[in-house]
Formats: sequence, C-alpha cells, structure tokens
Amino acid sequence: MRFLYVHIPFCVKKCRYCDFVSAEASPEQREAYLRLLKAEAALHRGERPKDGLLTIYFGGGTPSLQTPAQIGDVLSSFRDTFGFAPSMEITVECNPETVSRRCLKQLRRLGVNRLSFGAQSFQDHHLKEMGRVHNSEDISRAVEDAVGAGFENINIDLMYGLPSQTLAEWRESLEKAVSLPVTHISTYGLKLSPLTAWGRLAERGELELPSDDLNADMQLFAMDFLDKAGFPRYEIANFAKIGYPCRHNTAYWLRKDYLGLGLNASSLTGGDLRTVNESDFERYREKVESGVFPWASRENLSADEIREEEIFLPLRMIWGLDIAAFAKKYGSDYFAQKKGQMVKLFDAGLLTVEEGQLKLTDKGVLLNNEVLSALI
Ligand code: SF4
Repeated sequence: MRFLYVHIPFCVKKCRYCDFVSAEASPEQREAYLRLLKAEAALHRGERPKDGLLTIYFGGGTPSLQTPAQIGDVLSSFRDTFGFAPSMEITVECNPETVSRRCLKQLRRLGVNRLSFGAQSFQDHHLKEMGRVHNSEDISRAVEDAVGAGFENINIDLMYGLPSQTLAEWRESLEKAVSLPVTHISTYGLKLSPLTAWGRLAERGELELPSDDLNADMQLFAMDFLDKAGFPRYEIANFAKIGYPCRHNTAYWLRKDYLGLGLNASSLTGGDLRTVNESDFERYREKVESGVFPWASRENLSADEIREEEIFLPLRMIWGLDIAAFAKKYGSDYFAQKKGQMVKLFDAGLLTVEEGQLKLTDKGVLLNNEVLSALI
C-alpha cells in the first residue's frame, strides 16, 4: 500500500447540493479529529510499505480549513508510521476563500506539492445559488497566490448541469479556467441525492435543471475545448497538461491498493478486501480509541467482482483496456461471450480498438454507464 487518502470532513457551511460526509465544526472538534486520524494511522503501522508512500491526498470536506501547522503535524506522523518515498505527490483540496498566500507558502514548505481548488463555476450567481462561500474573483486570487507560493501543480474542479446553466456560461467557466496557471481540470456533472437541499427541491419539481441533451452538449464541449486548450482528457472527467495527471487518483483507476483514513474513507487491501470506515463521528471515535479498525463494512470481493473492476476501471482511462493482457488473465472466452453486446456498442460508435486497447469513444464517455453495464 503506497497510496494514502485522508478524509477531512469539515466545511465552513454545507453547499446545497452536497451529500459528502462533511459538516461545520468548532476548532476543538477539528483538533480532536486530527488526533484520531493519527491514532487510526498507527493501527496500520504493520502495513508500512518497504519504499514509503508515493501519494497522500487530503480530501473532504475542506482540508484547507485546517491550519498548515495541523497539516504539518499529521504529515510528520504519517512519515513516522509509513515512511515517505523520495518523490511524492501530496495534494490538499482547498476552497478558494480559505487560503492566503502566507498559508499556501507554509503548506509548500511542508512538502505539499499539489493543490485542488473547488472552483465549480465562474458565475457568481451560480456560486451563490449553490451555497458556495467564494466568488469568482476568489478563485483567480487563490490560484495566483498558489503560484506565488511556489505551487506548479494545481487542479480546479468545475461543475456542469447546474440549475438554469447555459452552454455559454459553461464555455465561459472553461475559458476562465484555462486562462489561469493551472495544470489540471476536473469536470463533474451535477448529481443530486434526495438528502440534499437541491435534491429535495428537484423531487418537488422546483429546480430547473438542464435537459439530458444540454448536459451531453456541455460534456462534449468540455472534451473538445479542453483538448484544444492543451488539457487532453485522460479519464472520463479529468483533463491535464502533459505530465500532470493526478498520480493519486490514477492509482485508484489502476486498481492499486490504497489506505483511506478518517470518516467514511474506503481502502483496498491485497486487491480483494474493500473496507469502508464509519461515517458517524462517535462510532468512528469509539472504535479508534478502542484500538480497532473503525470499519463500518468489510467485503471480500469475489473473483467476478474483481474481473468487473478490471474491465470498467481501465475503460475510464484514455489508455483503455489491454485486450491481450486481459485475455491472458481471464481467457479469450470472456469477450467472445459478450460478442453480441460488443458488436452493438461498436456499431453505435461507443467503443473502439486502437493498438490492442479497447477504449470508449467520446460518445461512449457520455454513455459510459450503459457501455460498462453491457460489458460486465
Ligand atoms: S465545500 Fe465541498 S464538501 Fe464542503 S459542503 Fe461544499 S461541496 Fe460539500
């Protein structure tokens, strides 16, 4: 295990579309949580990798609500517990309103070398309706401060499919994003859970959401626009300048073992054990303090489930699935049995084969769920 995810479940306030495990918390609660994270890490000391961790990803929530001193403290504890490889990627997710150049400089000095900003949109009226705390100027200021603090690997997240969003607004957000000194852009389509404020409005028919066709146009537009702007797509929703794909997230798509610490964090161990931590703070605290793994669920994946993941994870990526390597592992019968479905997918222009790699086309990316369920 050389990839570590750390969940920081605190936010300034809850966004109206958010169903992540995140909540407001006092400075004391945040400090107490960090103590638990270090204790949970210590429970895994037997899994110390021989050559140290390759990536650490602080996700949330809003990890940038923690002070640089607190992040430095947990990093030093992880270094003791797991060891660090000489060349690591350490990412901290930030919300633009929570960072100053001074704190970014401190993070950089601690070895953090990648930032991921939750920008979401460059239209202030959308940000306000989403319940975001920042405005569009905050995004540009935060990215420029990050560069001034010495960061050269910077992601921004953008969302499409927002209520009443137009294609022209989506285009403007993408144009503003590529005009900033960023190396990576993630694009997410709005998906609403009924447990969120917007989800409840949508259920009552009180939210004007873009049609499926407009959502598809926005996604296709992003693929074409970002590619031309020097950010080729390397995963269904992720675009990066050459040399800047996220190493941490790529490990998930390559099905590497990873360890997740904190509320609701999942882990993959030995390629077949998937565990998910408690999402309730008190249950998490009780288990960690009793010296047991704070798992809410523990599942041994079956051979079929592993094979399914070995199909759909590579297909998410631009490099696709190595047909010969897959056939060597699972026999050539697998795709032969799926011949009928595959012919339909090829005829519909959703799948293609290039140099022995099975890949989704751009149209296949739009319908990736349908393609993947036909294949597994
Ligand atoms: S900042 Fe992110 S994690 Fe926090 S409430 Fe908003 S969407 Fe959720």
